[in-house]
Amino acid sequence: MIRNPAMTGVYASDSAETTIPPLGTMNIRPSSLIRSFGIREMQILDGIWRFQHARPYSFTTSLKVVHALLDNSIWERKNGQDDQFPCLRFTAGTKDNGYVSINNWWLERLFPEETITIDDLPTKTASRLVAMVEFPEDLKDWASADGRNRHVHHLCRTRNCILPKHLMILKAGTHKHIHMINGEPDHPAVQPVL
Ligand SMILES: [Zn+2]
Ligand SMILES: [Zn+2]
Repeated sequence: MIRNPAMTGVYASDSAETTIPPLGTMNIRPSSLIRSFGIREMQILDGIWRFQHARPYSFTTSLKVVHALLDNSIWERKNGQDDQFPCLRFTAGTKDNGYVSINNWWLERLFPEETITIDDLPTKTASRLVAMVEFPEDLKDWASADGRNRHVHHLCRTRNCILPKHLMILKAGTHKHIHMINGEPDHPAVQPVL
């Protein structure tokens, strides 16, 4: 019996015999969820990052750290989560209000051959760094003029989740409004100083 639909043309019956597994989240390498950047694009972004922040930062270094963050985090589907992707939780850093910060201990462990420290990154907060790399021109560091007005909102409400698809950049006012109307007066975005 011929089972190749390209040969019989009867895809419905032939394809029933195929054994291609469904594409599951668990066999995706998390770092592949960040789009790839070309060499010239990286050069331009490195140039932009040298002047758009309060201090000069390397986009290349941050991208490298973000890849390591994603590949060293844990998939975890929350109860009732209907999203295509479960949360990807980074748990190896320092907890701060539920958010997780990258620390020098983790950087040393992940990059033993290099000397990358948190001072080389425009933010310590893991989720914010992922969003900064995902949208390299849209988010500034906290110390820059308009950095404080742009927040990273967790669509999944999991503060240690760093999945790019669960992160959204919002103006501080909009972000505050969202958590206010959701009845979360204790959320850091609602507080006057973050
Ligand atoms: Zn999430
Ligand atoms: Zn939020």
